[in-house]
Amino acid sequence: MDWKNLPGSGGGIDDRRGGGLPGGGIAVGGVGGLIIALIAMFFGVDPGAILGGGQQTAPQTQSGAAPSANDEEYQFVDRILGSTHQVWSQVFQEAGRTYTKPPLVLYTRGTTSGCGQASSAVGPFYCPADNGIYLDTSFFATMQQRLGGGGDFAYAYVISHEVGHHVQNELGIADQVTRRQRSARTEAEANSYGVRLELQADCFAGVWGNRTREQTNITQADVQEAVRTAEAIGDDNLQRQSQGRVVPDAFTHGSSQQRVKWFMTGLRSGNPNDCDTFSLPYNQL
Ligand SMILES: [Zn+2]
Repeated sequence: MDWKNLPGSGGGIDDRRGGGLPGGGIAVGGVGGLIIALIAMFFGVDPGAILGGGQQTAPQTQSGAAPSANDEEYQFVDRILGSTHQVWSQVFQEAGRTYTKPPLVLYTRGTTSGCGQASSAVGPFYCPADNGIYLDTSFFATMQQRLGGGGDFAYAYVISHEVGHHVQNELGIADQVTRRQRSARTEAEANSYGVRLELQADCFAGVWGNRTREQTNITQADVQEAVRTAEAIGDDNLQRQSQGRVVPDAFTHGSSQQRVKWFMTGLRSGNPNDCDTFSLPYNQL
């Protein structure tokens, strides 16, 4: 993937790396902690439930200077964000609407967000309250070690998925889902709306991939990277790892197969109208 051909975000990144908040980290230790981190991670649109709630905190004594804004990690995130600005501005313009570009907060260990305390245990998320995308850079290493192996295009998929949640927020889809979830009669029904929302964000990430493919020269190997990540973060796979069995009613993001399917749908077509995950019967997603 040639991400260096992509445009930068034009100052769209709030670089808070190297700072962290004193005492801001959520302590994650032992096997139990690992499981919580794994489940919490992928990739909630509403982190309110897992952020800032009476968790144990560990003192953070490390401190370091923020890396220069010219480092490769920053450049990569900046260009992926910039290219999502470009793609979604164009899509909105074609529909006679204006796209509001979301800021991206790049941080290490912990930071504050409009949705509460963010920490590396939570993983990347989008906060509808301040329209921010929150990305803890240790997540890239986590993906490499245990979530499908990582790779440029896989990381880009993750960022683009969070941008997809912003697009849903801009279009009012997120609000509709929240309303339906509140009036749901069972937890399984409420979860099903969340799954539809997540699969649509995967599809939107694919749309971004399609519309940047000429600039980035995405190869079959790149696509495989993203597919491996989508598989690794499917609810069935995460449940199997954490509790040894699969409980479809408790799915919040969709199965591995569904995540791959919707990402590939967006990637093949490049048309967000093909990302309607709300009209199909639930068992046909
Ligand atoms: Zn998500």
